[in-house]
Amino acid sequence: MKATLDHIGIAVKDLAAALAFYRDALGLEIEAPEEVASQHVRAHFVPVGESKLELLEATSPESAIAKYVDKRGPGLHHITLRVDDVRGAIAHLKARGARLIDDSPREGAEGSLIAFVHPAATHGVLVELKQSTVDSRQSTVSRRSEVTRYGLGDLELISVCDGFIRFDGGAMFGVVPKALWEKQAPADARNRITLAMRPLVIRGARTMIVDAGLGDKENDRFCEIYGVERARNLDHTLAEAGLAPEDIDIVLASHLHFDHAGGFTKRGPDGRLRPRFPRAQYVVRRGEWEDATHPHARNRASYLLDNYVPLADAKVLQLVDDDQTIMPGVKVRRTGGHTMHHQLIEIESAGKTAAFVADLMPTAAHAPDPWLMGFDLYPMDTLAAKNRFAREAVEKGTLVFFEHDPAMVAGYIREIDGKRSIQPAS
Ligand SMILES: [Zn+2]
Ligand SMILES: [Zn+2]
Repeated sequence: MKATLDHIGIAVKDLAAALAFYRDALGLEIEAPEEVASQHVRAHFVPVGESKLELLEATSPESAIAKYVDKRGPGLHHITLRVDDVRGAIAHLKARGARLIDDSPREGAEGSLIAFVHPAATHGVLVELKQSTVDSRQSTVSRRSEVTRYGLGDLELISVCDGFIRFDGGAMFGVVPKALWEKQAPADARNRITLAMRPLVIRGARTMIVDAGLGDKENDRFCEIYGVERARNLDHTLAEAGLAPEDIDIVLASHLHFDHAGGFTKRGPDGRLRPRFPRAQYVVRRGEWEDATHPHARNRASYLLDNYVPLADAKVLQLVDDDQTIMPGVKVRRTGGHTMHHQLIEIESAGKTAAFVADLMPTAAHAPDPWLMGFDLYPMDTLAAKNRFAREAVEKGTLVFFEHDPAMVAGYIREIDGKRSIQPAS
């Protein structure tokens, strides 16, 4: 039987103190936390080479971790060994008289199968056996497609999701070596990483949606190349948020790439393309519109005319020239960089600020200045805009929405000793 060390679980009593050691003193990267609601536990994975540490934080006094810490204090909780076939491993151990907690496998995180071996058999250490159903590294990416609501002064911000897409990891991280980025974003066998497509609904004086994901117009070949997973998509998540397409007054575009503007139009029963939100005005930056309707060899694959030309035909298009307020509390600001006229959305109410940064900082992993996308047309402009934005966000405590992060919907930018990181918003 072949077993590889997957991770070591450490029960933690005071997470801030644990982070002060593992993150700040040891200088290790902490992944976005995973909430295991059924076990009242929040897990913070810390990659250490081929395996990981898992800091386990109880979220309720009933949690097994809380009981463990009460009884013995914080410390080593379990080790997890990865096996190819957990059923085979169970049979193998049983045949050799080892005492097991689980006689048959149960479901773990991300579709893995797990079984615990009793500490009596392991000389005092709780051992978890784990069989990943997918590539073991992919399985560590938790994907979140739920609807999340945030209050910001008088505004309500609702993160919705149009599913997931896979882009080439190298293109997503530009000159950053894979040896570094793959720890943040594990690649599949075709070197693709998983990205969410998460538009943001803003409810205030009007109801606005910023970007609209990929939509459903693309063919099987496209969906295969980009690993599109839209079994749960914007239709579902909008409905879950209590919204119908007719409720949207304004559709605002960060830019017109297909993973942001694909959901702007849809094909009707007659085969004709029409606006997906029937009552909405679509607000697009004029420079972006000009570029998107006159693509060149370098950006043609990203600009698909069917996603936005029908808006002009339907006379629901409103082009804006400069940075300005689109509805009370919602402003656009050009960043350039990713595309010449890419813009971020600044949201402010009652002294509180949030921002939807689109492809300026597509995932939390893109927080450091030099982590720039190979897709960016003007990377030095992205760098300048990101640096400026991050400084302001730290100062104002801005809640930042990450449109493409598979696991983290939103977070706060922190800067400690010049090192930038993201603290997930709860
Ligand atoms: Zn883009
Ligand atoms: Zn994008």
